[in-house]
Amino acid sequence: MSKPKVGFYWCASCGGCEEAIVDLDEAILDVVAAVDVVFWPCAMDFKRSDVEAMKDNEMAVCFINGAVRSDEQLEMVELLRKKAGLVVAFGSCSHEGGIPGLANLYTKAGVLKAAYGNAFSTVNPEYTLPMAEFSFPEGKGTLPTLFETVKSLDQVIDVDYFLPGCPPPVKLIVNAVMAILKGELPEKGAVLAPDMAQCDECPRKDTKPEKLLLKQFYRPFQIQVDHEKCLLAQGLLCLGPVTRQGCNNSCMVGNMPCTGCMGPTSRVRDYGAKALSAIATSLDSNDDAEIVAVMDSIVDPAGTFYRYSLPTSLMHRANVTNGGK
Ligand code: SF4
Ligand code: SF4
Ligand code: SF4
Repeated sequence: MSKPKVGFYWCASCGGCEEAIVDLDEAILDVVAAVDVVFWPCAMDFKRSDVEAMKDNEMAVCFINGAVRSDEQLEMVELLRKKAGLVVAFGSCSHEGGIPGLANLYTKAGVLKAAYGNAFSTVNPEYTLPMAEFSFPEGKGTLPTLFETVKSLDQVIDVDYFLPGCPPPVKLIVNAVMAILKGELPEKGAVLAPDMAQCDECPRKDTKPEKLLLKQFYRPFQIQVDHEKCLLAQGLLCLGPVTRQGCNNSCMVGNMPCTGCMGPTSRVRDYGAKALSAIATSLDSNDDAEIVAVMDSIVDPAGTFYRYSLPTSLMHRANVTNGGK
């Protein structure tokens, strides 16, 4: 009997989600034994024409990581959608827009200026930018063009399931692949991770006070971090109260606060707003000036609360002029 065909693709991605597949260790042998990998351009020499030659729905499932920020990525995910029975948004960039989605704090012109004009490692006095089209003796060439706004996968194509995390934890990947192979999937649109908050399974949860009464926030390097006490109670911005489980509390186990990569539980519509609200209710003050001073101790609030989710927030992007924040 022929094996189910599987594809992997990356859009605006750091490559970490592809590494997560390799991180399956020995489990990758079981996966490879159970499926035929018919498209994985990061790892093997597949071409777009290979996908174009497939019949509609020929792939049982395609895992797509990375946000969508260029015309080339949009064309590819639309093509993959036609060729795959199931599409899984793989990783927080695909699920919520992720780190590349922070570009939505700027205009496209501002992003290009930062990358090609102002970067410390760039010497470009004439401010030359990549050209969308160019001619050379053999003909004409084109490059993908960036969109003004970065999008999550489900903002551009129909998505069947979401595997959260930056990158998704190995255990969740294996569970998802096995569920697909056995046909034991939950309702369409489900996030394939437990629908509970990090705090509920955190080994430090018994040291989290009912009322936190915080007076200041710190970054991890600014204090001697207690290895057993709740990190939020120590003034570190741990977003465990509003973040979905599935990673075995890996940051807190490593003595670092949760930054929210597994995204929200199903009860939360806007992750950043919920996180900000949870943190604001932890303050010990009724004095406006004092509250403002404590909140000012949070470095980069937009990047902290919307680190992984700006494109899927209610705002989608910042309303900016002149390329700035
Ligand atoms: S989810 Fe994280 S690991 Fe995956 S591509 Fe995005 S930034 Fe990289
Ligand atoms: S706030 Fe963070 S450290 Fe404290 S119990 Fe929740 S997840 Fe654990
Ligand atoms: S603890 Fe938070 S930031 Fe760390 S891996 Fe888990 S969800 Fe992601």
